[in-house]
Amino acid sequence: KIRTRFAPSPTGFIHLGNIRSALYPWAFARSTGGAFILRIEDTDLERSTQAAVDVILESMQWLGLTPDEGPYYQMQRMDRYKEVLALMQAQGLVYPCYMSVAELDALRERQMAARQKPRYDGTWRPEPGKVLPAVPAGVQPVLRFKNPMAGVVAWDDKVKGRIEIHNEELDDLVIARPDGTPTYNFCVVVDDIDMAITHVIRGDDHVNNTPRQINIFRALGKEPPVYAHLPTVLNEQGEKMSKRNGAKPVTQYRDEGYLPDAMINYLARLGWSHGDDEIFSRTQFLQWFDLDHLGKSAAQFDEAKLRWVNAQHIKAMGDDELAVLASAILVRRGFSADVLADGRLPRICALFKDRCETTVALADWAAIFYGAAIAPTQEDREKHITAAIAPALDALAAQLAVGTWDKPSIAAAIKTVLAEHGLKMPQLAMPVRVLAMGTPHTPSVDAVIELIGREKILEILRSR
Ligand code: GLU
Repeated sequence: KIRTRFAPSPTGFIHLGNIRSALYPWAFARSTGGAFILRIEDTDLERSTQAAVDVILESMQWLGLTPDEGPYYQMQRMDRYKEVLALMQAQGLVYPCYMSVAELDALRERQMAARQKPRYDGTWRPEPGKVLPAVPAGVQPVLRFKNPMAGVVAWDDKVKGRIEIHNEELDDLVIARPDGTPTYNFCVVVDDIDMAITHVIRGDDHVNNTPRQINIFRALGKEPPVYAHLPTVLNEQGEKMSKRNGAKPVTQYRDEGYLPDAMINYLARLGWSHGDDEIFSRTQFLQWFDLDHLGKSAAQFDEAKLRWVNAQHIKAMGDDELAVLASAILVRRGFSADVLADGRLPRICALFKDRCETTVALADWAAIFYGAAIAPTQEDREKHITAAIAPALDALAAQLAVGTWDKPSIAAAIKTVLAEHGLKMPQLAMPVRVLAMGTPHTPSVDAVIELIGREKILEILRSR
């Protein structure tokens, strides 16, 4: 059974680049009947916060990236890591190293001066026949992992292809600090073993850790999982996406009126492809997703594209569903839920959804029908609401005051006024739009008038 995981560090912020690292393992597990595990890597006590954990959970919940297991917390697994450390010590897989920070610095400087890659030189690594230095008094050692001295570590990365690293390039990794706390690469391996992870799908900023992690897997007698290292997500300026250069938190997109399924669609395409398909549903994505079509080069975020994708999803969405979303936004703005349930909202959504990129924009339109103030520009007022058109507007009000209230009747009323006053459609429709909606750019005027309602449109036409 396939088991994947998302292993975020709760250090304050989760942007689209981060959440994409949850999307693919989630999709892979879902599309193969596997399990998706959430693991919070909170061992950096200085930077990890509960608030950041909450934001991760909230972001995943909003997008529907629901874990089957977890969240597990690394801080709650310390005893387990220490248990494995003790086991490794008993098996001679690790050794204490007493080299001080000053000595390490001096070593690094000598190596740099000799144009060598800085690496631990194995001073404290026990070897048959080797005499180790005298243990300094009062120094707590770190524990180092005995990395194999020769051979290569290789894996077939699902994104990057075959990668081979010579063990000579890897020094003996510190896996426990002087106070006995385990270090990052070690915890990850213990977790991936205990959680029976079969596929590690993560950002390629971790690709340098992978050979070290594989060696620890093997030392523990386990086969490493399959790895897929995802290329970076760049922002619109071509820099690695991060909080510092303006990335927004995932939840901000929710507040700006993006649909979870549109986000999934957009993020899926940011590093994976299915032919030329640009717009697809969550279900379709899960049917199509595979690791073989992950992109090999960095993907660049494009907010205009995201807006377009969102617009396509809004357009394709059912009117009743959209009405529920618009209603929630309007209730947050202080409109009464009872008033909003008057039956017009789904029809308003139907009329406006083609021209909205976000549900917030849709709610902005809908709000006008429920009494939100409009703000026509001075220019539009002067251009469209002229003295010359006044008689026709009065005539329209008179026509609309009587008869059946439906779109054909309203269309007929407009036609009558146009004929009587010798006007073309826009000459009458534009002023009505500006008066009723605050802008000349609206859907067809008879549909708008119908949804505004008789009483209200008469008031608008008469009090202009
Ligand atoms: N905690 C790491 C991060 O936030 C991910 C580690 C992993 O996926 O192996 O980047």
